[in-house]
Amino acid sequence: MSKIVVRVAQIVGVLILAGIAVSVVVGLVQWVLGLAVIVAIPVGAYWLYKKVKSGDRPQIPHAATGALPAGKGDRRSELESRAVLDASGRCGWCGAAELHKDEYGFPTTPLRYHRAEIDAML
Ligand SMILES: [Zn+2]
Repeated sequence: MSKIVVRVAQIVGVLILAGIAVSVVVGLVQWVLGLAVIVAIPVGAYWLYKKVKSGDRPQIPHAATGALPAGKGDRRSELESRAVLDASGRCGWCGAAELHKDEYGFPTTPLRYHRAEIDAML
């Protein structure tokens, strides 16, 4: 064998080894990526579910408006829709021209002021 043939054989051998190494690395990276995607899908779905469920929008306390959570029946919402200020600023429930005051003397909503009456009519 001449020196040139040995040299060529060495280069070919190195190239083949490098090719194997690259394919192993690429295969490993693909396997890791595939695993990451498989793990990320349920984790991401769960994260999204938690985020949507907890709700990023600010929640106004029901006590602030005097309104109760929705979905308590049509009768309640019908009565509550009457306990609002009309266009002239009168109480739609009792017709009082002034703003209702709460127990501390602060203006309150008709809905909150008449809550007990509304509840009594349900
Ligand atoms: Zn009133």
